[in-house]
Amino acid sequence: MISIDDALTTLDHHIRGLEAEPLDLASGTGRVLAQDVLSLTDLPRFDQSAMDGYAVIAADLSAATDTTPVALELTGTAPAGTTDPELKVASGGAVRILTGGQIPAGADSVVPQELTEQANGRILFRRPAQPGSNIRRRSEELASGARLARAGQRLTPGRIAALIMGGHTQVSVTALPRVAALTTGDELRSPGSELAAGEIHDSNGPLMLNWLASQGISPVLQRRLPDDEALIREALAEALESADLVLTSGGVSVGDRDYLIPVAESLGVERHYWKVAQKPGKPIYFGTRGGSALLGLPGNPGAVLVGLEVHAARILDRLQGVRSLRPHWQCGLLAGSERVDARRDRLLRMRHSNDSNGRTLLHPLGLQDSHMLSNLTDATALVRLRSREADYDVGETVEWIALSP
Ligand code: AMP
Ligand code: MG
Repeated sequence: MISIDDALTTLDHHIRGLEAEPLDLASGTGRVLAQDVLSLTDLPRFDQSAMDGYAVIAADLSAATDTTPVALELTGTAPAGTTDPELKVASGGAVRILTGGQIPAGADSVVPQELTEQANGRILFRRPAQPGSNIRRRSEELASGARLARAGQRLTPGRIAALIMGGHTQVSVTALPRVAALTTGDELRSPGSELAAGEIHDSNGPLMLNWLASQGISPVLQRRLPDDEALIREALAEALESADLVLTSGGVSVGDRDYLIPVAESLGVERHYWKVAQKPGKPIYFGTRGGSALLGLPGNPGAVLVGLEVHAARILDRLQGVRSLRPHWQCGLLAGSERVDARRDRLLRMRHSNDSNGRTLLHPLGLQDSHMLSNLTDATALVRLRSREADYDVGETVEWIALSP
């Protein structure tokens, strides 16, 4: 039995990043950059107004006061999106300008329209203007060639917007992992179907598929299998051929019908761990064959959840070359006491909230046994209570991760 941390290090050691491929940015959310991305343009691209108002020469307004306003001649208009190369501001003149409009030659300041009045076709100013005020300077945010994003960052809607402003339409991302999802068990029937004595609905299949969907992945292969050695062999062989990651549920313990590990190893899978000091999910199995990884999850739904959020998330991050690898443990305060396990870390499903000081509170939910899953309707967090002798008290700081949405 190895620790969770050693299991994660083992995954890092055996999982290599996938090849890079070009991708249309607009549809890129969730994908991982394979290269640093530099801006192709200055941001902003040109000097532009931050306000609706008037582009002026600040020196023209140095004597303006409430009682002795300065009147300037309106000499043109600069809306956003169009530029008149002839447009200039000369002393004594002002150009009407809108937010995002290019600052005309000669002007060095924009006065917001709220601070002006119109009088006989001229514009009145009752206070001086500072040079540079209300102007967004070319490249004040960043210069062409500056780094906008790093290899290993996952694309988010915000990152996509930033890269598009930086002039990009395509980026290089790592390939999306090909994942196969197999559930095993003679007792499993499809969701909703009528059940005979001893049968249950296969909830791990939908759990795995929906978790994968939350990772932006739709599986290349998906099967529900009985505990039949030949059928498991056939499906596993196909999965190992076609997937970078094969996820299975069930059949990794020491029961008479737990065929998964012997069959996998007879197909050439090399074992890297079996049994991790975690509860639930101790008999989790990880092996590789060439570039394919096999993560064998125990069949209990609690174990599947831990397997996905802790182990499979790490594998997907490694396959995609992510810099900041999951699980992303955070700190929070236990809102109730909990028993420890002296030999294994407990991974408990809890609900998290914030107190008025912005601290995270972790509320224990009952019914934590590995075969139980009804508390998943309330759970938002997976809390790690490290193995030790003493029980955990209310108010203790513990590690937790957010469950995938
Ligand atoms: P196993 O790891 O195959 O020994 O299964 C452990 C427990 O999980 C048994 O009670 C199984 O009935 C249950 N189980 C296995 N597979 C699934 C599944 N796909 N959906 C729901 N429960 C399952
Ligand atoms: Mg089974």
